[in-house]
Amino acid sequence: MSIKNPQVRTLAILGGGESGVGAALLAKAKGYSVFVSDKGVLGDSYRQTLILNNIPFEEGKHNDVAILAADEVIKSPGIPDTTPLLAKLYAQKTSVVSEIEFAARHTSAKIIAITGSNGKTTTTRLAYHLLKSAGLNVGLGGNIGDSFAKQVLENNFDIYVLEISSFQLDNMYAFKANVAVLLNITPDHLDRYDYNFQNYINAKFRVVQNMGPADDFIYFEQNPAIAQELPLRNLPMNALPLSLSNELMNGGCLKDGVMHVSSHGATFEMVANEMPIKGPHNALNAMAAILVAQAMGVNAQKIRDGLLSFQNDPHRLEMVGDINGVRFVNDSKATNVDSAYQALHTFDEPVVWIAGGIDKGNDYAPLREAVRKGVRALVSLGSNNQKLVGYFSGIVPQIAEAQDMRQAVRLGLELSKPGDVVLLSPACASFDLFKNYEDRGDQFRAAAISLSNLAAQ
Ligand code: ADP
Repeated sequence: MSIKNPQVRTLAILGGGESGVGAALLAKAKGYSVFVSDKGVLGDSYRQTLILNNIPFEEGKHNDVAILAADEVIKSPGIPDTTPLLAKLYAQKTSVVSEIEFAARHTSAKIIAITGSNGKTTTTRLAYHLLKSAGLNVGLGGNIGDSFAKQVLENNFDIYVLEISSFQLDNMYAFKANVAVLLNITPDHLDRYDYNFQNYINAKFRVVQNMGPADDFIYFEQNPAIAQELPLRNLPMNALPLSLSNELMNGGCLKDGVMHVSSHGATFEMVANEMPIKGPHNALNAMAAILVAQAMGVNAQKIRDGLLSFQNDPHRLEMVGDINGVRFVNDSKATNVDSAYQALHTFDEPVVWIAGGIDKGNDYAPLREAVRKGVRALVSLGSNNQKLVGYFSGIVPQIAEAQDMRQAVRLGLELSKPGDVVLLSPACASFDLFKNYEDRGDQFRAAAISLSNLAAQ
């Protein structure tokens, strides 16, 4: 009979992607007996890393017996709780945690956790940029770039800025942030939350769990779901609200185009339009990042320099070309209604709007006014856009249907006038015609550039 060494805990890791492999490396270094199980095919570099580090793994299947016998399971956020194996683990009360929860146990660095339905990546990158360019020893992780776990293993950062999704929060229990940012909560991913918005709200609010009076909570107080939920919770943290109208002693306010941000005895002001990122939603993201920087002691001059030098990721209101005075803007990352709403409210110029794709149960009503007022024409791009086209017929003067991105961009130019914006902000997922939102945005950029080259000839 083999006797299990009680000192060595066994860990099963479900999902061998960036977070799973990072967690495996950290777990092995910390003396756990660990194995990785992935139902799909592992990426070549991840397989190589596991082999090189002598970490046992399986792919194409899950060995239920071994997984059910593990002391703890680390689950990739992509795996829904409804899969039979997860249901069994929960039923037998195995601890199932996310990679973020696991990695946080092994660092004493300060943690800034950023969540929301939209704006996470922009705010996380910007907050990181402000801290890093001010000279702080800071790491960037969560849903972005290298896994948090791998960085905890390989680096010795004083601060981490983490982008956290609701799926990660679902399996976080003892995790505690020093600064939490909750940008907004609007319906998304409801298929993972029993089609119950409250379940999704509860998941997002897990970002503040375990926080105390010495910690900062930054949130957009005019988001209806947040405003409704806050009075029901007795939260002890230092509240730093963001607002688009109310001037605040502590927090951030965008008023007449100027950002006013105060906290920890520091104040900061700047005209939002000076920043490379545009639109009121980006001013909100920026004010959240500024509050993070103030919490970490960055001075106003360094914050200002950082805001001016920030470059956002592609596919988020990215300017990709100008053809005879018509600007082409790639917002392919707008995969839900709220993000398209923000994009449509960013431009004063008339817009030719390219939208459509896989409708995730969208309610288009919030877009109605902005489309009626500002959209010159709608170019529908998707394999089945009946609902979108049906909704906006009679609201927008002209609707054209495109079969592929090149045609959509050509139609965009034909239907626009000099001074207009051709905006790809689909409000839908991309998987009907494209590999993902990046592929959709890359094709848009390439089509706009090739049209611009033609126009220049
Ligand atoms: P996430 O990581 O949450 O998906 P991103 O920063 O990648 O957020 O932006 C996703 C989409 O949402 C983009 O189309 C962007 O223009 C839009 N967006 C960015 N910030 C906000 C915000 N604060 N509120 C609503 N939409 C936003």
